[in-house]
Amino acid sequence: MQPLLTQLLDLPGMDVEDYSDLGRELVLEVEARTTKVTCPRCGNDSTHLHQNHWHLVRDLSMSQHSVLLKLNRRQFKCHVCQKPFSETFEFIGERRRHTDRFAQMIVQQVIHSDLHNVAKQNDLTDEEVASIVQYLSKKK
Ligand SMILES: [Zn+2]
Repeated sequence: MQPLLTQLLDLPGMDVEDYSDLGRELVLEVEARTTKVTCPRCGNDSTHLHQNHWHLVRDLSMSQHSVLLKLNRRQFKCHVCQKPFSETFEFIGERRRHTDRFAQMIVQQVIHSDLHNVAKQNDLTDEEVASIVQYLSKKK
Protein backbone atom coordinates (compact mmCIF):
# COMPACT_ATOMS: atom_id res chain seq x y z
CA MET A 1 0.00 0.00 0.00
CA GLN A 2 1.13 3.55 -0.76
CA PRO A 3 0.05 5.56 2.34
CA LEU A 4 0.79 9.04 0.98
CA LEU A 5 -0.89 8.47 -2.40
CA THR A 6 -3.84 6.77 -0.68
CA GLN A 7 -4.23 9.86 1.50
CA LEU A 8 -3.91 12.25 -1.45
CA LEU A 9 -6.37 10.29 -3.57
CA ASP A 10 -8.91 10.52 -0.76
CA LEU A 11 -11.46 7.98 -2.01
CA PRO A 12 -13.07 6.41 1.07
CA GLY A 13 -12.32 2.71 1.48
CA MET A 14 -9.87 2.62 -1.42
CA ASP A 15 -6.13 1.95 -1.24
CA VAL A 16 -3.47 2.91 -3.74
CA GLU A 17 -1.40 -0.25 -4.07
CA ASP A 18 1.10 0.89 -6.66
CA TYR A 19 1.71 3.65 -9.19
CA SER A 20 3.56 4.46 -12.36
CA ASP A 21 4.65 7.93 -13.35
CA LEU A 22 4.40 8.31 -17.13
CA GLY A 23 5.52 11.94 -17.19
CA ARG A 24 2.33 13.81 -17.98
CA GLU A 25 0.22 11.01 -16.56
CA LEU A 26 0.12 9.31 -13.22
CA VAL A 27 -1.36 5.82 -13.11
CA LEU A 28 -2.54 4.71 -9.68
CA GLU A 29 -3.36 1.10 -9.03
CA VAL A 30 -6.42 1.18 -6.80
CA GLU A 31 -8.31 -1.51 -4.87
CA ALA A 32 -11.00 -1.54 -2.22
CA ARG A 33 -9.70 -2.21 1.28
CA THR A 34 -12.56 -4.50 2.29
CA THR A 35 -12.37 -8.25 1.73
CA LYS A 36 -16.09 -8.74 2.31
CA VAL A 37 -18.67 -7.65 -0.27
CA THR A 38 -22.46 -7.97 -0.12
CA CYS A 39 -24.25 -9.91 -2.87
CA PRO A 40 -26.77 -7.61 -4.61
CA ARG A 41 -29.18 -10.54 -5.19
CA CYS A 42 -29.53 -12.06 -1.73
CA GLY A 43 -27.66 -9.74 0.65
CA ASN A 44 -25.26 -12.47 1.75
CA ASP A 45 -21.69 -11.32 2.49
CA SER A 46 -19.07 -13.01 0.39
CA THR A 47 -15.31 -13.12 0.90
CA HIS A 48 -14.78 -15.51 -1.98
CA LEU A 49 -12.82 -13.62 -4.63
CA HIS A 50 -13.73 -14.98 -8.03
CA GLN A 51 -11.77 -12.78 -10.44
CA ASN A 52 -9.94 -9.47 -10.65
CA HIS A 53 -11.14 -7.06 -13.34
CA TRP A 54 -8.89 -4.09 -14.00
CA HIS A 55 -10.26 -0.95 -15.64
CA LEU A 56 -8.58 2.31 -16.52
CA VAL A 57 -10.63 5.30 -15.41
CA ARG A 58 -9.87 8.98 -15.36
CA ASP A 59 -9.85 10.89 -12.07
CA LEU A 60 -9.08 14.46 -11.00
CA SER A 61 -5.60 15.69 -11.86
CA MET A 62 -2.91 16.07 -9.23
CA SER A 63 -0.34 18.87 -9.59
CA GLN A 64 -0.81 19.20 -13.39
CA HIS A 65 -0.63 15.42 -13.87
CA SER A 66 -3.58 13.66 -15.43
CA VAL A 67 -4.54 10.86 -13.11
CA LEU A 68 -5.66 7.47 -14.38
CA LEU A 69 -6.87 4.92 -11.89
CA LYS A 70 -6.14 1.33 -12.68
CA LEU A 71 -9.17 0.21 -10.76
CA ASN A 72 -9.81 -3.35 -9.67
CA ARG A 73 -13.54 -4.00 -9.80
CA ARG A 74 -13.38 -7.41 -8.16
CA GLN A 75 -15.81 -10.18 -8.89
CA PHE A 76 -16.94 -12.30 -5.96
CA LYS A 77 -18.82 -15.57 -5.90
CA CYS A 78 -21.87 -15.82 -3.67
CA HIS A 79 -22.21 -19.16 -1.92
CA VAL A 80 -25.96 -18.76 -1.49
CA CYS A 81 -26.85 -17.86 -5.13
CA GLN A 82 -23.88 -19.73 -6.56
CA LYS A 83 -23.37 -16.81 -8.93
CA PRO A 84 -20.58 -14.31 -9.38
CA PHE A 85 -21.18 -10.59 -8.91
CA SER A 86 -19.05 -7.46 -9.28
CA GLU A 87 -18.47 -5.03 -6.46
CA THR A 88 -19.91 -1.54 -6.84
CA PHE A 89 -18.25 1.74 -5.87
CA GLU A 90 -19.75 4.95 -4.52
CA PHE A 91 -17.41 7.14 -6.53
CA ILE A 92 -18.00 5.75 -10.01
CA GLY A 93 -20.98 4.39 -11.94
CA GLU A 94 -21.04 0.99 -13.57
CA ARG A 95 -19.16 0.84 -16.87
CA ARG A 96 -18.16 4.53 -16.54
CA ARG A 97 -14.68 5.53 -17.60
CA HIS A 98 -14.50 8.64 -15.39
CA THR A 99 -14.99 9.01 -11.64
CA ASP A 100 -18.07 10.94 -10.51
CA ARG A 101 -15.96 13.75 -9.09
CA PHE A 102 -14.14 14.09 -12.42
CA ALA A 103 -17.54 14.18 -14.16
CA GLN A 104 -18.73 16.90 -11.76
CA MET A 105 -15.63 18.97 -12.47
CA ILE A 106 -16.24 18.65 -16.24
CA VAL A 107 -19.89 19.67 -15.89
CA GLN A 108 -18.86 22.75 -13.87
CA GLN A 109 -16.50 23.71 -16.69
CA VAL A 110 -19.19 23.19 -19.34
CA ILE A 111 -21.48 25.55 -17.42
CA HIS A 112 -18.84 28.29 -17.63
CA SER A 113 -17.52 27.51 -21.10
CA ASP A 114 -18.65 25.30 -23.96
CA LEU A 115 -18.46 21.60 -24.63
CA HIS A 116 -15.81 21.73 -27.33
CA ASN A 117 -13.38 23.89 -25.35
CA VAL A 118 -13.81 21.77 -22.25
CA ALA A 119 -13.06 18.66 -24.31
CA LYS A 120 -9.91 20.24 -25.71
CA GLN A 121 -8.66 21.45 -22.35
CA ASN A 122 -9.14 18.09 -20.70
CA ASP A 123 -7.88 15.80 -23.44
CA LEU A 124 -11.34 14.40 -24.06
CA THR A 125 -13.42 14.05 -27.20
CA ASP A 126 -16.62 16.08 -27.64
CA GLU A 127 -18.54 12.79 -27.41
CA GLU A 128 -16.94 11.94 -24.07
CA VAL A 129 -17.88 15.33 -22.61
CA ALA A 130 -21.43 14.97 -23.92
CA SER A 131 -21.67 11.50 -22.38
CA ILE A 132 -20.37 12.81 -19.02
CA VAL A 133 -22.96 15.62 -19.00
CA GLN A 134 -25.72 13.16 -19.87
CA TYR A 135 -24.57 10.67 -17.22
CA LEU A 136 -24.61 13.24 -14.41
CA SER A 137 -27.93 14.76 -15.41
CA LYS A 138 -29.50 11.27 -15.32
CA LYS A 139 -27.89 10.55 -11.96
CA LYS A 140 -29.41 13.57 -10.24
ZN1 LIG B 1 -26.24 -14.10 -3.32
